[in-house]
Amino acid sequence: MIPRIDVKTAIAKKNFVGETDISFDADGALIDIPYVEFASPVRAALRYEIFADDKVEVTGEISFLLKGLCSRCLAEAEREIVYSAEGLFAPQPKDEEYGYSNGFIDLREFLRDSVLFALPARLLCASCAEDGSE
Ligand SMILES: [Zn+2]
Repeated sequence: MIPRIDVKTAIAKKNFVGETDISFDADGALIDIPYVEFASPVRAALRYEIFADDKVEVTGEISFLLKGLCSRCLAEAEREIVYSAEGLFAPQPKDEEYGYSNGFIDLREFLRDSVLFALPARLLCASCAEDGSE
């Protein structure tokens, strides 16, 4: 199922503010850290606000669990990632905005970008994290 926001219906019902909870399996290829993988689905708790000019602001929290081998000592490591995501959608997007059409926002690109931004550069085990700078 495509994660999306039905802007047309929301406007018709005058629900200019709403929430949506999405859970999905992220593409493991997004991870750039050796021996690390997603250990949980990605959860996105999103809130949206539709403005008078039909632009839609989406904000919320992206969270998931990373598991694998410590980037420094190769011990087993695990870390919960929580990231504040935000995006602006417009029928005629410019600059950093995402586009949408036919009254539906397709959240896939936004979610993929958010997971990319949320991913750390490395995963450290508890003992390395303690004496490291991270
Ligand atoms: Zn370590």
